[in-house]
Amino acid sequence: MSTTEQTYIMIKPDGVQRGLVGEIIARFEKRGFKLVALKLATPSKEHLEEHYKDLSSKPFFPRLIEYMMSGPVVCMVWEGLDAVKTGRAMLGATNPLASNPGTIRGDYALQVGMNVCHGSDAVETAKAEIELWFGKEGINQYKLASSSWVYEA
Ligand code: GDP
Ligand code: MG
Repeated sequence: MSTTEQTYIMIKPDGVQRGLVGEIIARFEKRGFKLVALKLATPSKEHLEEHYKDLSSKPFFPRLIEYMMSGPVVCMVWEGLDAVKTGRAMLGATNPLASNPGTIRGDYALQVGMNVCHGSDAVETAKAEIELWFGKEGINQYKLASSSWVYEA
């Protein structure tokens, strides 16, 4: 059983402005994931364009970049069992109206252009995103005291 999978989770400017930072962090903590990197950041346009480069041909791309530059974001790396897929499930669908209640977007958002949070969509994408956002600082390594109460022996 691998417990070292990591995912990049980011609270978007609307999530920060609406006071959802603590709530979103709490959900990942309570689920049993380990926080291994965290910062508040105001990324450059170039940095955001790199993060969303796969979407650069989409008609909404300029709007997306503008949205992401509208305020600071909270950047995090969470580690644990199936972190990428589970993180996406906790976020909900891209369109909040299609997100189930109980998910972050399903509880706190209504429109796709204001959907509160980002989560890596695959293990390989997560690696690239973690490098982009935390390549300089690096990731913390430590044993979470509660892990023996989250994972079976
Ligand atoms: P995600 O992985 O669920 O965040 O979705 P995508 O990677 O497909 O898109 C990245 C982000 O672009 C989404 O989270 C939305 O904030 C935004 N986005 C996606 N589709 C649309 C759209 O049709 N209109 C607008 N305004 N924004 C969109
Ligand atoms: Mg995506």
